[in-house]
Amino acid sequence: MTKTEQLIAMEEHYGAHNYHPLPVVLSKGEGPFLWDVEGKRYYDFLSAYSAVNQGHCHPKIVNALCEQAKTLTLVSRAFYNETLGGYEKYMTEYFGYSRMLPMNTGAEAVETALKLARRWGVVNKNIPNDDVLIVCCEGNFHGRTLAIVSMSNDPDSYANYGPLTPGFTRIPYNDVKALEDILSKEGKRIAAFLVEPIQGEAGVFVPDEGYLQACYELCKKHNVLFVADEVQTGIARTGKLLACDHEGVRPDVLVLGKALSGGVIPVSAVLCDDEIMLNIKPGEHGSTFGGFPLAGKVAMAALDVVKDEKLAERAETLGQIFRDEMAKCKSERIELVRGRGLLNAVVIKPMAGKEAWDVCMKMRDLGVLAKPTHGHIIRFAPPLVITEEQLREAIALIIEAIETV
Ligand SMILES: *Cc1c(COP(=O)(O)O)cnc(C)c1O
Repeated sequence: MTKTEQLIAMEEHYGAHNYHPLPVVLSKGEGPFLWDVEGKRYYDFLSAYSAVNQGHCHPKIVNALCEQAKTLTLVSRAFYNETLGGYEKYMTEYFGYSRMLPMNTGAEAVETALKLARRWGVVNKNIPNDDVLIVCCEGNFHGRTLAIVSMSNDPDSYANYGPLTPGFTRIPYNDVKALEDILSKEGKRIAAFLVEPIQGEAGVFVPDEGYLQACYELCKKHNVLFVADEVQTGIARTGKLLACDHEGVRPDVLVLGKALSGGVIPVSAVLCDDEIMLNIKPGEHGSTFGGFPLAGKVAMAALDVVKDEKLAERAETLGQIFRDEMAKCKSERIELVRGRGLLNAVVIKPMAGKEAWDVCMKMRDLGVLAKPTHGHIIRFAPPLVITEEQLREAIALIIEAIETV
């Protein structure tokens, strides 16, 4: 058995079977590259679902982590810690909100946003506690907790996990009229509209231009919070700091995760203003690790890198190149190329019994890693630090894989 086979067999034997990874075992990363345990190098075109926008093992971020790890890692929120206040100040100034609440994973941040929205609905909008409704979208992906999967319409996510959490209603994505209808009908008991500015997991669905703006205005009209889940789209991935920036929309509640730490440790956060945030009082929400000293130092370093290295501008320019070059490939296998910035997807037409998975296996053999999402769609999202030359080299390999599989 090769080392790769041994390591895969060990996971198969001892691990839960809740994932179906591409068969490649990785042991090292640097910038846009990954290496497997056999020493083979790959272009990373997944970036850990856009958590590694700043590139693997960015020295400034890793350095911030190591320095803080030698000094103080965790005290919990039972006491104050030296880094949290500065981190909160940095975050609120960086994103333009009056307050932030720190958590660890994306799902926890979404849960926090749901709690904030429900609380605001009860306290500020006087909705009876048991009637509060949150509107979400078909095809959404907001994480894996029970409340969150209760919003999902993907049976893989919610089926056979027992009773779902009530208080959610789903409307079609990219459908302003559907939002208008539900707000007209149920607006008085709706606290929030929760939306991904681009649906990443669903296959990089980019809504029509003006969708976010129109939804935001409807929310204002009906006194409903506009909550943006930018866990995957935020932090420069789509060519702006936030995907909502493309339409000049400032969400009432902003949810961030993934690239907030540059993929170094789990760091997430919710940002909003006083009238929403201050409804939660001491003891009413929290997390042992939320806002711990490592998170603060790592997130500030990760966000410095985004500005210093102009990652949003890079994503915008390089994303255009990616889509233009892919459009030149005339393979019948390519049904569609779509995306924004460096968050893109190619829809693969199954042919001769070969589908997106086979294309990903071929790409792996050629030295590019990506993964199908929902059967026939492959997401392409390299670290934003990839150079134009590297991107063009990787595109040639991707096209070779599509044409030869
Ligand atoms: C990944 C993701 C989440 C969940 O983040 P975790 O850190 O995996 O809990 C939530 N929302 C969106 C849009 C995501 O892409």
